[in-house]
Amino acid sequence: MIAAERVHTLNTARVRKGRYVLYWMQSSHRASSNLALEHAIERANNLGIPVLACFCFDVSYPGANERHFQFLAEGLIAVGRALEERGIQLILMRGTPGEVIPDLASEAALVVTDTGYLALHLTWRKAVARQISCPLIQVEDNVVVPVKIASVKEEWSAGTIRMKLHRLITRFLEQVEPARVDSSSLSLDAGGLAYEEARSLPREAADRSVAPSAFYRGGEDEAARRLDSFISHDLDRYGTLRSDPVLNVISNMSPYLHYGQISPVRIAQRVLESGKAGADTFLEELIVRRELSMNFVTYNPHYDSYFGLPAWAKETLSRHEKDPREYTYTESEFERARTHDPFWNAAQQEMMVTGKMHGYMRMYWGKKILEWSESPEEAYRIAVLLNDRYELDGRDPNGYAGVSWCFGKHDRAWSERPVFGKLRYMNANGLRRKFNIQRYADHISALTGD
Ligand SMILES: Cc1cc2nc3c(=O)[nH]c(=O)nc-3n(C[C@H](O)[C@H](O)[C@H](O)COP(=O)(O)OP(=O)(O)OC[C@H]3O[C@@H](n4cnc5c(N)ncnc54)[C@H](O)[C@@H]3O)c2cc1C
Repeated sequence: MIAAERVHTLNTARVRKGRYVLYWMQSSHRASSNLALEHAIERANNLGIPVLACFCFDVSYPGANERHFQFLAEGLIAVGRALEERGIQLILMRGTPGEVIPDLASEAALVVTDTGYLALHLTWRKAVARQISCPLIQVEDNVVVPVKIASVKEEWSAGTIRMKLHRLITRFLEQVEPARVDSSSLSLDAGGLAYEEARSLPREAADRSVAPSAFYRGGEDEAARRLDSFISHDLDRYGTLRSDPVLNVISNMSPYLHYGQISPVRIAQRVLESGKAGADTFLEELIVRRELSMNFVTYNPHYDSYFGLPAWAKETLSRHEKDPREYTYTESEFERARTHDPFWNAAQQEMMVTGKMHGYMRMYWGKKILEWSESPEEAYRIAVLLNDRYELDGRDPNGYAGVSWCFGKHDRAWSERPVFGKLRYMNANGLRRKFNIQRYADHISALTGD
């Protein structure tokens, strides 16, 4: 059964007679382990009507480019097919949810949606809730523990949220079996485009400057295949080897989690069932670290800006703002991987070419942008911009928390040094000491042909 704390009604309208229950799919692009979808099916079965699923796309969505649209489109086609097998029609609508959903909702008994955490996603839900005259029900299914149940305030660090989450995890790993769909919506005429039309979306992107990734294919089937492979081959070594960028003993789940093509609850259940060593370390990242990011964007209105950093970090950085920098680079030099540091350049290339940088290198990458920019504010802006432009998992709570971590968020003060002040420092010697980092750089240059 779906935990009641996941389900919220966002307006006061009453259920009425309708042709269908509208499932507005926004952040969970999957047909399996999708609690919002299961809730919609249950409500529709009770009312004796079908579920119509809808996804709104806006080719000028802020920061989205051809790479993102390709991954999104692959995911939509996969979920469209999977829903069809269950007797549910998925239609695509052009426009923002505020423009599209009220029209479709005019024939619905109620609307069910999933949960988003970024400002734009909250605005969309508010706009739709205001405009429709049937209930808008939101189901929070892209986290293990619902964010406001985990904590009622912005948490200081992983250390302060960990226990709060641990107390609740088991309760929110609820098993929800896929419900039988009583009335099919496959023959319903509701307008919109068939889900296969998603194929042409990438070419319509307003920004076509970033090519699709040849390394990551979107879709819930692909996410499931990668998860199986990770659990079988890498999970038992994750606890000891996950930081090594040469070995890639990581799950690569982040792009799939970002698009909701896989459920974090399902991942956690699978990892626990495996009984493998590495499970605890992995769940620390998947639940504690990831849900700390959701906490950050929920309670900090400046989550994607330098102003969102803790006061101590801004203070120490401003004290060192005028410190001489050994190297400084512009946004364009960073973007083209034209620094003096072959390891930093390799990390930037990995992100630009594959669409996903190794997690350990992301920390080094962000710290060095801070060290080599004219000012910490400029460094923050460049890091967010490049992260959002090239990472398949960019434009995500984890991205804003990750960049902010490089600038002191969710961390503590260390000993003071130039430019960084009391922020944690990282350098190339650390990479050399810990890993065969030259092999990483060679591997990336082989990938990119440099
Ligand atoms: C500068 C910087 C930028 C980052 N940008 C992003 C981003 O845009 N999107 C993104 O999803 N993550 C981001 N991260 C966090 C982390 O690096 C990635 O989540 C991770 O590398 C994804 O790879 P994976 O799925 O193979 O991770 P795995 O190691 O296999 O971990 C499994 C899952 O746990 C979560 N996770 C792992 N590490 C972290 C972390 N440090 N913080 C929060 N959650 C974590 C992710 O959801 C990940 O998919 C960033 C970190 C830094 C330092």
